[in-house]
Amino acid sequence: MNSLKEIFRIGKGPSSSHTMGPQRAAEIFAGRHPEAAAFEVTLYGSLAATGKGHLTDVAIIEVLNKIAPIEIVWKPTEVLPYHTNGMLYKSLNAANEVTDEWEVYSVGGGALSEGKGKEDMFYTEPVYELNTLKEIQKWCEASGRGYWEYVEHCEGEEIWDYLSEVWQTMRTAVEEGLDNAGVLPGSLNLSRKASNYYIKARAYKESLQARGLVYAYALAVSEQNASGGTIVTAPTCGSCGVVPAVLYQLAKSPDFTERKILRSLATAGLFGNVVKHNASISGAEVGCQGEVGVACAMASAAACQLFGGTPSQIEYAAEMGLEHHLGMTCDPVCGLVQIPCIERNAFAACRALDAQLYANFSDGRHRVSFDRVVEVMKQTGHDIPSLYKETSEGGLAQDFEW
Ligand code: SF4
Repeated sequence: MNSLKEIFRIGKGPSSSHTMGPQRAAEIFAGRHPEAAAFEVTLYGSLAATGKGHLTDVAIIEVLNKIAPIEIVWKPTEVLPYHTNGMLYKSLNAANEVTDEWEVYSVGGGALSEGKGKEDMFYTEPVYELNTLKEIQKWCEASGRGYWEYVEHCEGEEIWDYLSEVWQTMRTAVEEGLDNAGVLPGSLNLSRKASNYYIKARAYKESLQARGLVYAYALAVSEQNASGGTIVTAPTCGSCGVVPAVLYQLAKSPDFTERKILRSLATAGLFGNVVKHNASISGAEVGCQGEVGVACAMASAAACQLFGGTPSQIEYAAEMGLEHHLGMTCDPVCGLVQIPCIERNAFAACRALDAQLYANFSDGRHRVSFDRVVEVMKQTGHDIPSLYKETSEGGLAQDFEW
């Protein structure tokens, strides 16, 4: 598995696969062709189907237009062989001849691939030798250490500085999101809700207040994402509200110091990494179970660790966080990361706290392992028809009337 830096990416929303990835590809291609007289970028499959709502064209144009005029070609019904989020970048000279072509894929979480395995320019040497939770849990139990210690063992001490930056960005996204008001960009004219949820939650007694505040924090981050604000993929932009909401709420307790929060973030990242390595965190590939479902698993693991869970209880919490999202489709209305995405983050954050409580009440023994649920998620994702995988052709997105 690769570094957690590839799970937790800091950048602008609204979509890691449809905005961050294509923008990064545009930056690379612009760096190769500062002399170009024009560019043409063809978007295929899911990128073309929901690219307008995800501001894919805006993100690419913003970069390439600084050099030369650019034309975007949309091919939603054509899917390139390696992945549904395919792109073809072309540079042209003054005689309108193609001088270079580059086929590249936005494979989820802001990551890019040329579909060439080890020959790929984006190939990075793995940082972790163990790739399944079963192996990692064994390592923890044999060494008497925790999941976060396995992260430090593989990534070195430097990971704490990076996770500290991640946590700072998450906190800022919550706070700015609570402070912002007005309508989110896009045709839905959806109002921001986080600020009102926060005010109302504070008027309730403690137990209900906690739940209301977690809603508010998740809404705040997801609304920041929907409006192109800076967030952290955890594991993606669409699911970026779940982990910060849970940790922001728990960080208010004096029992959970910043060091403990960072350690829980390391554990969250490790669980997300296992899914990314063995299945997928791309809604276009496996549906929303791979985005919000995985975010819930990550937050469940982090919370369970903070409340003193053993490795098997933490694994159980994460397993439940994902298991109870199995089969969840991706059907963003008008291709915007707003409906159902924003509310879905709020519900998943509360579900993560339920999963941690449930696991902590148990002795950690359970029948379905995290690794098994990851396998099932992958298979289910492949069996889901493509109209429910970020194409905005089915589910809530179909025939939506406002
Ligand atoms: S429905 Fe889920 S997977 Fe699809 S764009 Fe929204 S958050 Fe991402």
